[in-house]
Amino acid sequence: MVIAVVGANWGDEGKGKITDMLAEQADIVVRFQGGANAGHTIVNNYGKFALHTLPSGVFYNHTTSVIGNGVALNIPVLFKEIQSITDRDVPTPKIIVSDRAQIVMSYHILFDQYEEERLGRASFGSTKSGIAPFYSDKFSKIGFQVSELFDDEASLREKIERVVEKKNVLLEHLYHKPLLSVDSVYGELMAYRRMVEPYVADVSLYLWNALKEGKDILLEGQLGTLKDPDHGIYPMVTSSSTLAAYGAVGAGLPPYELKRVVTVCKAYSSAVGAGEFVSEIFGDEADELRRRGGDGGEFGATTGRPRRMGWFDCVASRYGCRMQGTTDVAFTVLDVLGYLDEIPVCVGYEIDGKVTKEFPVTAKLRKAKPVYETLPGWKCDIRGIRKYEELPENCRKYIEFVEKEIGFPITMVSNGPAREDIILRSAEI
Ligand code: GDP
Repeated sequence: MVIAVVGANWGDEGKGKITDMLAEQADIVVRFQGGANAGHTIVNNYGKFALHTLPSGVFYNHTTSVIGNGVALNIPVLFKEIQSITDRDVPTPKIIVSDRAQIVMSYHILFDQYEEERLGRASFGSTKSGIAPFYSDKFSKIGFQVSELFDDEASLREKIERVVEKKNVLLEHLYHKPLLSVDSVYGELMAYRRMVEPYVADVSLYLWNALKEGKDILLEGQLGTLKDPDHGIYPMVTSSSTLAAYGAVGAGLPPYELKRVVTVCKAYSSAVGAGEFVSEIFGDEADELRRRGGDGGEFGATTGRPRRMGWFDCVASRYGCRMQGTTDVAFTVLDVLGYLDEIPVCVGYEIDGKVTKEFPVTAKLRKAKPVYETLPGWKCDIRGIRKYEELPENCRKYIEFVEKEIGFPITMVSNGPAREDIILRSAEI
């Protein structure tokens, strides 16, 4: 069976923790999209880790971690990450990299930086990990697939010549930066070949056979629905689909095998980068939530930059869950709200004088003003509670209010960063 863990909003919902928890029962954990531009923070017996490329299952001995074809594969980051966990006594993980994954080149990272510099104040707030230039090249058919590293030198050099010719026009005339050479790109690819060779496999075949043997596969999404290039807040989106459905493509799985979609919603909102965020809050109110948020504050796992903060947005989350094809919602970081007397929840958007509960396209979203309902807080620390009935009444009311508004069952409530800080509402999980 295949289960996906994905985000309902802008990312940073706590997917890493939920994946790490569900990975205990999985045989294989697969990353199917995105790259090293976002991080998952995981707290377990080995300590606290921020992973960018490795799937969150790497901490278990029994799981195989797979980098699917849909991922933007940054090979040096992958290697650094493997090193960083084995240095801290985590057993060497079993890792497989798809021969169809494409490679993030150092020039993708440079192009990302140059473009953000060029855009100045109109920039996307990119993490400058090369993701947009990488996916642009993939779909312009000038990217390098892992399999091409093993091609003969003449064919590879011929392709590099074509790529370099195109890139150098932009470097010279648009960005006024140093040019690329065929030899340096070839050298970079050969260095990657040496690093990645032991891990390369036909991932779709591996997963096909695993399913035939009855193995359980967990797909780990990055970011969330609102960052999806089609269904998100375009153009302030990421460059690969963040939807569970894309797991079939980005891992190479039959779509009918995806049986459960666990969509992660955080009990309040946060976002990194630019883009529409209707329930955003500012000033002291935002600073306090940011400081208390997550595990040690809401700051980017990749860049360390302060996240934008807001109240829970039922409109965005309902849409976010619908687009994911949600079967279960994991409601996370609820413990953080324990300091509030009252908790505003965004239940509608007012656009041109009309209130809607349906998440609109970006042009309308820009005009949307949040409509809030205020719920009473519970004013205590809920960490350590393991049974739903033991949560304070106002806390249960908050969960049940959100559940009703978003229209999908909240089957898990996370009330702390650790693996065991979880309240299961359904015996099936
Ligand atoms: P991801 O990208 O969706 O995995 O999200 P992050 O890595 O940004 O995770 C959010 C942060 O919240 C991390 O620092 C987690 O350790 C932390 N976290 C996850 N679940 C909870 C929770 O229930 N309570 C608290 N306080 N922190 C949590």
